[in-house]
Amino acid sequence: MAHLTQADLQALNETFESRTPVELLQWAATVFGRRVALMSAMQKAGTALAHMVYAHGLAMDVLFVDTGVMFQETLDTRDRVRQEYGLNVITLSPELTMEQQTRAHGVLYLTPEGQTRCCEMRKTEPLLAVRGRYDALIGGLRRGEGERRSRVPILAVDSRLNVLRINALANFSNEALEAYVEANNVIVNPLHAQGYTTIGCNRCTTPVLPNEPARAGRWRHLGPWAMYCGINPTDVGRSEPHEFLDWPQDLIDTVLGQKTDFAI
Ligand code: SF4
Repeated sequence: MAHLTQADLQALNETFESRTPVELLQWAATVFGRRVALMSAMQKAGTALAHMVYAHGLAMDVLFVDTGVMFQETLDTRDRVRQEYGLNVITLSPELTMEQQTRAHGVLYLTPEGQTRCCEMRKTEPLLAVRGRYDALIGGLRRGEGERRSRVPILAVDSRLNVLRINALANFSNEALEAYVEANNVIVNPLHAQGYTTIGCNRCTTPVLPNEPARAGRWRHLGPWAMYCGINPTDVGRSEPHEFLDWPQDLIDTVLGQKTDFAI
């Protein structure tokens, strides 16, 4: 096995800055085949990506982490994506129900330390269960979200999952996302129209006021507002230059464009 570091990705990341989301999805499908999946929390960016996958006939799984305390609207959106876009949506679940977890550990999400443990058990660990099944995961993080995501790279190392994270919408502005959704009649989680700018678990998400930051509705009871669950390595500083993927040299060469005729 060889190492692919975040630093090794710098040149490719610079090249990809001028590529569209669809071009990045097509690159991922070509390079990784069935070993790439789309992650979607069934928020607007995630369903827009699902629509692009569907509209361009790309064959890839869609991973949805169901913490067991999702809004019914989010579960309904997942079901619509599966039925209307015909995608293979795989639901990943935690080991314990929220009731079992509460009996064993108490109401964790009411303290910052407990929130970290709860998100680890209910979000990150279910995703870790697919370690080894994929080489790359596509997500919907956008720089337009601001705060820690304002400088998110297009390609990021996720050493914990040993996958390349592909933030295909990193450059997609708020306006571009809205325009795409409107022009393509994309399936949209109805909670967005009810004041939820971002959508997570029902225990930890509220609507936001017009003058509040977009993430003000996440863990509002804990504050400050710029909190993240840790499922994305770039949110919590796990894509630093020294981080690396433990991959076969062939795969590294393919990703870096040293072993394929496919040029983007
Ligand atoms: S968002 Fe809240 S309920 Fe959901 S996993 Fe994290 S702490 Fe637990």
